[in-house]
Amino acid sequence: MRSSVVIVAIVACVGIGSPAFAQAAAAAAEPAAPDPVKTMVGRLDLEHYKATIKGLTAFGDRRQGTDRNRAAVDWIEAQLKSYGCANVERLKYEYQPPPARGTAPGAAGRGAAGGGRGDAAQGGGRLRGIRARTGVNTDPNAQPDVKLRELNMQPTTPGEREEVYCTKIGTSHPDEMYIVSGHMDGHGWGEAANDDGSGTALVMELARVMNSPDVTTERSIRFALWNNEETGTNGARAYVEQRGPLQGKENPAGSGKYPEPKWLGMIQHDMMMFDHGMPRADGTVSPEQRPEADVNIEFQVTSTFAEGAQKLAWTLEAANEKYATDYPAQVGPHMTNTDSGPFMNVVPAISVRENERGTQIGAGWDPHWHQPTDVFATFSDKDFRLGLNAAQTTLGAVAQLTGANIKH
Ligand SMILES: [Zn+2]
Repeated sequence: MRSSVVIVAIVACVGIGSPAFAQAAAAAAEPAAPDPVKTMVGRLDLEHYKATIKGLTAFGDRRQGTDRNRAAVDWIEAQLKSYGCANVERLKYEYQPPPARGTAPGAAGRGAAGGGRGDAAQGGGRLRGIRARTGVNTDPNAQPDVKLRELNMQPTTPGEREEVYCTKIGTSHPDEMYIVSGHMDGHGWGEAANDDGSGTALVMELARVMNSPDVTTERSIRFALWNNEETGTNGARAYVEQRGPLQGKENPAGSGKYPEPKWLGMIQHDMMMFDHGMPRADGTVSPEQRPEADVNIEFQVTSTFAEGAQKLAWTLEAANEKYATDYPAQVGPHMTNTDSGPFMNVVPAISVRENERGTQIGAGWDPHWHQPTDVFATFSDKDFRLGLNAAQTTLGAVAQLTGANIKH
C-alpha cells in the first residue's frame, strides 16, 4: 500500500512525458520486491515443528547424566549437520550435584519467591488469583506408559557432560553474533515434550531455515541447546565461563575466523506450547488452548543489561506483529529460572515462553510442567501452533537483527 502512494507522488512531481516518469512507470509495473524475512518465516511450518518435537520425545525425559540424554545430544547434532549448520561443536563440562537437601515441600508455594510477602513471585511480580500445586514428579510409577517408564529408568550419575551448538557465520560481521537457545534436558518421567522439547525444536527449526543454502546473514547466529538446565542452568553457566573470555578474538590471527564471536544478545526458549489460562477454583485447568493465548517475552528489570534486554524484547514483539500468523506477544520485566539467567549480566538476554515464568507458570498454570503428562500426545495442534508462532517471532527478529537476505 505505502509503495504505490510513493509512486503516485513521484509521478505528480516529475510530470508525464519526462524520462523520470518512464522510469517510475517501469518501476510501478514490477511487483514490489518480496520481503526476504517473510520468505524465511514462511519456511517454518507446523508439521516440521511437530516432527522435530516428536523426534526429541524418542529419548524420553532426556534427563541429564543418562544414556538417553547423551543419545539425544547425538541426535540433535546429526540433525543440525543435516540442516547444513556445518560448524557443529560441543562444550564439555563437569557436573557434580550439590549435597542432597531434605525433601522440598511440594505445595502451592513452589512459584513463590519465599521470604517476605506471601504473593511475591520468583523473578519479581505478584502471584494473583487462583494458584494450583506445582512440583517435580519423582515417582516412576506415576508414568502409566510402561515403555516410557522403562526408557526413563536409568538414574543420573555425576560426571562429564556435553552440550551442542552450531553457528551460521555472518558475511560482513563474522565476529559478532546473537545466541538463539533452548535447553534439551528434562525430567519428571514424561517425554519432556513441552519442557523443553518445544523450545529445543524451535531452535532446531530456526537453524534449519537460517542455514538454507540461499540464506545469508551479515552477522553470525549461534544455535545452542543447553544441557543441565533442570539442575540449575549448569550447562549455560559452563558456556558463559568457558566461552565468555574468548569473545571477539580472531583465531588464528589474520584468519578471519572468530571461534567465539562477540555476544550481541541472547534469546532463550523454554516451554512454548501451553497457555490454557489460570487454574479454576477446583484446581483444574482448561483442556483447550485459550483463544487469547500469547507468546511471553521476558527481560529481567534488575539485570545489568536491562535496557538492552528490553530493547531486544520489543524487537521480538514488533517481529511478532509483523510475522506471526496466529498469536500475539507480550513483553514483561520478570525473566527468571532459565538459561538466560547466567547471561543477563554480561549481555542483553531475554526468554520466550508460553506464560510468564514467575507469576503464571509458578502459580500452576501448566499442569504438565515436570509431570508424567508432559508427553507429545498431551498436546493439540493449537498448542503446537503457539510454539510455531514463537518460532516465527524469534526468526523474524533475528533475521532482521543479523541482516538476513536471500540470494537469487
Ligand atoms: Zn524448562
